Amino acid sequence: MTAAGAPAPIRASEALRKKLAKLGLHGAADLLVHLPLRYEDETRLTPVVEAPWGEPVQVEVTVLSSEVQFRPRRQLVVRAADASGEVWLRFFSFYPNQKAMLAEGARLRAFGEVRGGFFGAEMVHPRFHLVAGDEPLPAGLTPIYPTTAGVGQATLRKLIAQALAGDDLADTVAEAVRQRLQLPALAKSLRFLHGPPPGTALEALLARNHPAWRRVKFDEVLAQQLSLRRAYRARRQQGAPALAPAGDLAERLRAALPFRLTGAQERAVAEIGADLARPYPMQRLLQGDVGSGKTIVAALAACQAIDSGWQAAFMAPTEILAEQHYEKLTAWLEPLGVRIAWLSGSLKAAAKRQQQARAAADAQLVVGTHALIQEAVDFARLGLAIVDEQHRFGVAQRLALRKKGGNPHQLMMSATPIPRTLAMSYYADLDVTVLDELPPGRSPVKTRLVADGRRDDVVAFVARHGEVGRQAYWVCPLIEESEALQLQTAEETFARLGAELPGLTVGLVHGRLKAAQKHATMAAFAAGSIDVLVATTVIEVGVDVPNASLMVVEHAERFGLSQLHQLRGRVGRGAAESSCVLLYAQPLSETARRRLKIIFEYTDGFEIARQDLQLRGPGEFVGSRQSGVPLLRYADLEGDADLVEAARTVAETMLDEAPAAAERHLQRWLGARQDLLRS
Ligand code: ADP
Ligand code: MG
Repeated sequence: MTAAGAPAPIRASEALRKKLAKLGLHGAADLLVHLPLRYEDETRLTPVVEAPWGEPVQVEVTVLSSEVQFRPRRQLVVRAADASGEVWLRFFSFYPNQKAMLAEGARLRAFGEVRGGFFGAEMVHPRFHLVAGDEPLPAGLTPIYPTTAGVGQATLRKLIAQALAGDDLADTVAEAVRQRLQLPALAKSLRFLHGPPPGTALEALLARNHPAWRRVKFDEVLAQQLSLRRAYRARRQQGAPALAPAGDLAERLRAALPFRLTGAQERAVAEIGADLARPYPMQRLLQGDVGSGKTIVAALAACQAIDSGWQAAFMAPTEILAEQHYEKLTAWLEPLGVRIAWLSGSLKAAAKRQQQARAAADAQLVVGTHALIQEAVDFARLGLAIVDEQHRFGVAQRLALRKKGGNPHQLMMSATPIPRTLAMSYYADLDVTVLDELPPGRSPVKTRLVADGRRDDVVAFVARHGEVGRQAYWVCPLIEESEALQLQTAEETFARLGAELPGLTVGLVHGRLKAAQKHATMAAFAAGSIDVLVATTVIEVGVDVPNASLMVVEHAERFGLSQLHQLRGRVGRGAAESSCVLLYAQPLSETARRRLKIIFEYTDGFEIARQDLQLRGPGEFVGSRQSGVPLLRYADLEGDADLVEAARTVAETMLDEAPAAAERHLQRWLGARQDLLRS
């Protein structure tokens, strides 16, 4: 625990504490940052007859009579009045004790809208409480908190007021930093947000751009940065093999390549090479748009590990992709004498045992799917773990690979470029290398949007395309609800295109094919003996057949932006001019229309990702890598980008110069939730 000791608990009954826990409120510190959704003005009383209809007001009335009526539906109807006139209060759902409270003679303050009803002024479901004697009116606006069944606003207010009166409000952000960033003190900001004085302009508060809100949002992103940067530093304390190559394996691989590395690839190789030579584990993300040439960069890193006497593992998310990597790496490295093992879920038991034994013994490179991280695999000397298309794996799977064989260096790769603020936020615990250059000689892919009424024209286009010896992909509509239906559609599309394209050879590949069949089909397509490959999205990631220069996607409106970008990235890999035809069905939903417009207008993966982020918001965007998501309740990565930038630098300084304050800050903001973060 911290120097400050254990976080102060919430003083409440066991039952209430359980309910509060559902709201994420475990300690007093959590209450402090449980901020209102909105406010109501209970600082004034309005006489019933003066209440402007349809605006929220507070009245103080005495009950004249109350009864439960059954028509038109069961309801509690209360007749009440103040000195100015009468008002009906109507409750459609109520507890017996509420009925008892509202007995004749009871005096209460009710908050809500007054409207003209059948019998005169009425309030439907006002919030109310009984008053005795001359209870003073609140001095500030009344906060309305997010809550859950069984925890009333009054209870929350009381608990939060107690927490605010406690001694846990000391500022963790240094005065100088606050001044530079023009942020008010935390105590002041929280007191203000929990109870703004009457007359406070509510717009800035509700839009959350009041300075007090900015302070809270800054603290929140600061906690995230502190936590990720601390994890980053902690990993540097762990040991890893310093991979200093003894031989010239990487040089020999380069010499055998039919191309020269791009400048971006050279930079990446140098950065990764330097990391690998250090005695603590590398945690690097290699980001590069589809086709930017990440595989060779990874292969050169593997060479460095192998040449230093260690093993490298290369994990890919799908069987097709893993197999393609296996083939490519075998073609590159086997002639140089590297021993390569292959592990995938579809291997027969005996073959799998044999490959596992090789991984445990003398294999230098092990390529495979997530079969690589299964229990039975025991690497002899794993020095480097490479994870391709890392966003496809859950956090747990990536951690499992790291745990194999002690503490290997880790290289993650992703073709899903993520915008800068998001990267800073979610990947703050990683070093990032970006391949910002495509290999030369690529021709841009021409994108066309075609309504599915013109499908025949597209088929004719595919026929002409095939007749001159060029190949095409035809991607079947995505049917997320049912795998069976998806399969059926793929088979029907295959049969139909076969009939429509009599002069061409049509192949079919989908997720449910046996590995050997899948392999044979992909190999035939790569060798050019299949002209048109009908496929489900199994080809979405990584597949690389340079002679394929036409991509047709049916029902493109059902695909997400990054999927469409990935699919389009399958073509445009050779010298031939390539095109991508997106068939869509009408009517298009508004989002689908915007997605298609974006994919039509932009080819740059980063720009597409930026647009995607705007369309979807960060939570969904980062997909399986959600560990950082629950940590941001108030800040918004796009709108508060400046705060994220600032927090990043402040976090570094705090970890160096004020570690105790950093620890208190983490406790306050993350408390028990620190476990949610990767370590
Ligand atoms: P991705 O980054 O999408 O994984 P790949 O590694 O599959 O890209 O590379 C795409 C294609 O480009 C492959 O056929 C690969 O051999 C080729 N390639 C990679 N680097 C270069 C280069 N510097 N010059 C020419 N072709 C290259
Ligand atoms: Mg790839």
